[in-house]
Amino acid sequence: MYISLAAVLAESAARRPDHVAIVHGTQKVTYDELWIRARQCAAALRDRGIGPGDKVALLLPNTPEFPMVYFGVLALGAVAVPVHWLLKADEVEHVLRDSGAKALVCGASFLKEGLKAAAAAHLPVFTMMADDDAAGPRLDVLAERATPIERCVLRQPSDVAVILYTSGTTGRPKGAMLTHSNLTMNVNTTMLAPFEFRQDDVLFGCLPLSHTFGQICGMCTSFRAGATMVLMQRFDAAEALDLMVAERCTVFMGVPSMYIALLDVASKDARRPPLDRAFSGGASLPVKVLRQFEETFGCPIYEGYGLTETSPVVAYNQKPWPVKPGTVGRPIWGVEVEIAKADVEDRIEFVPTGVAGEIVIRGHNVMAGYLNRPDATAETIVDGWFRSGDIGTKDSDGYLAIVDRKKDMVLRGGYNVYPREIEEVLIRHPAIAQVAVIGLPHDVNGEEVCAVVIPSSGAAPGAELSEEIILWSKERLAAYKYPRIVKFVDGFPLGTSGKVLKRELVARFSR
Ligand code: ATP
Repeated sequence: MYISLAAVLAESAARRPDHVAIVHGTQKVTYDELWIRARQCAAALRDRGIGPGDKVALLLPNTPEFPMVYFGVLALGAVAVPVHWLLKADEVEHVLRDSGAKALVCGASFLKEGLKAAAAAHLPVFTMMADDDAAGPRLDVLAERATPIERCVLRQPSDVAVILYTSGTTGRPKGAMLTHSNLTMNVNTTMLAPFEFRQDDVLFGCLPLSHTFGQICGMCTSFRAGATMVLMQRFDAAEALDLMVAERCTVFMGVPSMYIALLDVASKDARRPPLDRAFSGGASLPVKVLRQFEETFGCPIYEGYGLTETSPVVAYNQKPWPVKPGTVGRPIWGVEVEIAKADVEDRIEFVPTGVAGEIVIRGHNVMAGYLNRPDATAETIVDGWFRSGDIGTKDSDGYLAIVDRKKDMVLRGGYNVYPREIEEVLIRHPAIAQVAVIGLPHDVNGEEVCAVVIPSSGAAPGAELSEEIILWSKERLAAYKYPRIVKFVDGFPLGTSGKVLKRELVARFSR
């Protein structure tokens, strides 16, 4: 069997050549233009020695250049290694060296870090849209002059298409090897059922294309459907509302912090885009936020669960089953999800229905393994099951609820405390706009529960409010769970995909 993830673009270019695939500022790129440009990039890379199986790293922004190069690399049968633009030179260098990339394609705005990293890893650089000729040959110019490759190079289903690096919460980032089959199956199964993408959909693309959520659920799924994607480089809620209204977006996809920020802007701005579906994932969405968003925007949110290593979608609140707020729905077609004992590491031992344990996943979405890390692969894929590192429960209807990440659990005086449960309670306090619960080192209890709070506008942070929050949570949470420490901040440190970086909060407040 032969396959290519590039078919998601190639097929839509054949079916709807003149339909707009991408909107970026005033630029509109049709499917035909995008596929021609991708095949021109492929030709230019081939003429410079890149071939099937070679890895090409991409340090590119959320602009049409991203899919041009990404699908060019895939069309050539090569492997795309997208790198997030927030990474610093030595982090990029790690990805370049570890992946064994043959070249780096670097966007104009990332030349400083990209050039430094590529020089250290002794790699050639192609630039995109850069004025600086000294930086390296311009792939966009070379592509413009090249004759597009005629057809896409097909691969075996088990061949690696994309390598995505984890954000490296524990140790150096690992490269998840995702095959053509993994990613194509994930796009097809999620698009056909829960996402229900239509050709006349306009998806708002504010998630970074270098991250699995924006790349696979956003870009690849939108192209597979032949829909239009409106790209935004960096999420800003006010600009997002402007753009969604102007471009008449029908689908929003984001992480919870984006929903919270959008709600804040919408409380001062009455304009609404014609959204009819919204998707949340990447972190838990407080039920209060889900309800407020649905009320404010008149559009349902379908919360789902996924990981980079699982291509990414694992489960979704999907039709025809009713949405159960607070859950991430049921497993996608062809994927099994079970709950196993979290402390039994060398084998998989299931727990009874309703009991919390580690979420384990088996099916077409599980990566081929971590590149160069057979040790980490063997620890993570056990008896054919992928251990997610997340604690969850499954109810008798097959709905999955995420309790928390194993690594975020707070061990207070011998009790396991799961921050997410506490956050769900605290977010109901009127003076709290956003909250992240963490564990801080404590002499007696080992760890103490701490609520890091962004106050609502009008609330006065200080000792009095802190005391009030502690008393308020004491009335609603068991003695070992409620936070004894409250810290106020103006904003949270966010990771490359927009998630709150709890480890940074722990480091900041442990001092
Ligand atoms: P790293 O694993 O490298 O530290 P990361 O965990 O953010 O980074 P991703 O693959 O981006 O890596 O995210 C996967 C994780 O996101 C899951 O393991 C889970 O903890 C969390 N997650 C995803 N969807 C949800 C959700 N709906 N509710 C709660 N958590 C979620």
